[in-house]
Amino acid sequence: MCYNAENDDRGKKWKSLKFNTALLHKNNGGDPKTGATLTPIYQVSAFSQDSAEQLERVFNNKAPGFAYSRISNPTVAAFENRISALEKGIGAVACSSGMAAVTMSLLGILESGDEVIASSGLFGGTLDLFGDLEAFGIKTRFVEDFTPEEILPLINERTRACFSELIGNPNLKIVDLRAVSAAVHQKGIPLIIDSTTATPCLINPGDYGADIIVHSASKYINGGGNAISGIIVDSGNFRWDFDKFRKLKKYEKLGQFAYLASLRNGIWRNMGGCLAPMNAFLNEVGMETLGLRMERSCENALRLAEFFERKGITVNYPALPDNPYNKLCNELLGGKGGAILTIRAGSKERAFRLINALKLATNATNIGDVRTLVIHPASTIYAHSDEKRRISAGVYEDTIRISVGIEDCEDLTEDFRQAIESL
Ligand SMILES: *Cc1c(COP(=O)(O)O)cnc(C)c1O
Repeated sequence: MCYNAENDDRGKKWKSLKFNTALLHKNNGGDPKTGATLTPIYQVSAFSQDSAEQLERVFNNKAPGFAYSRISNPTVAAFENRISALEKGIGAVACSSGMAAVTMSLLGILESGDEVIASSGLFGGTLDLFGDLEAFGIKTRFVEDFTPEEILPLINERTRACFSELIGNPNLKIVDLRAVSAAVHQKGIPLIIDSTTATPCLINPGDYGADIIVHSASKYINGGGNAISGIIVDSGNFRWDFDKFRKLKKYEKLGQFAYLASLRNGIWRNMGGCLAPMNAFLNEVGMETLGLRMERSCENALRLAEFFERKGITVNYPALPDNPYNKLCNELLGGKGGAILTIRAGSKERAFRLINALKLATNATNIGDVRTLVIHPASTIYAHSDEKRRISAGVYEDTIRISVGIEDCEDLTEDFRQAIESL
């Protein structure tokens, strides 16, 4: 099936690979039967076995193999193995969407009566999800800044997880991962990090203490904006206390693999949010250029941010030297600020006029596409959030979010220049 790089004879060689080489070769076994350079699309629901005994073994994890694509599928497994290797995890579970990954990452741990501490500057769908979880007896306490100072006072005997985006979408605050993970680990709480906007290209959050890493793979990992998907990676960092995390108790003998085993054999499999083989394949094709795309998008984003500054327009971008998160951007992300920036147009009306005047940048609700996308978040993604939540997510009436693509930068700045001048 798929190589597991760390167990492979060539493990040493894989370990020393640089990012772009690893993207292509690490844990990419292709299809050993035919020599196909990528794992083919196994577009089937079920897999037959030679005997009832063998199917019993496969079904009960006593033998390798596949039974049913909601539970596992070779194309999906290939994608999971490659992302897990890139994030240096102990394993990964792919999901039907980023929201499914966020949901499952939490429900893999939480029970009714439990509490979560979350950053208030989250993706709109995730904020809405925390509201939905209240109906199941799961309470979320929000902090304005995801720092030990704000988190620690809110931890109590019911707290079971802390959740934040590494680079908030779209408030672009960066989490001081080392400080936060050290603080919450002291209290025996796992740190779940949504690293969608940072991508494995800029950082492996597990290196800085994050426990569970989730991605909306619909964004940068896919890159072409052609499939919805998500993935959960377990860094292997967290030491589960099985009396406290009772959901995992059943899998105690698996030690650090208990969380993934509990997802795979429990809530993830039973809720049915599996990734379609076709989408796993599209992601595998897309992810191979992640490094090249991120390099270009981050460079374009910085040049656009500098252009807005020159034009006297308020711009938020972590790689700008006077940005409050610039120090963390340098420490954690190698000085790359990601591919999202926000600007403030002065009023909702001016924001709409600016968006409508753009000729290249596309007005669409997505990020991480090869194309530059713009959106007015207050009237769309955050239309259901109350004003307080919206503002702490960094979304004002006049905010425009720009997801910077890989176009030639001169064309992008020219597009924004003519749109600004038309106001
Ligand atoms: C888009 C996004 C999600 C949700 O992902 P979908 O694939 O749209 O379900 C979650 N978190 C972040 C940071 C996102 O940008």
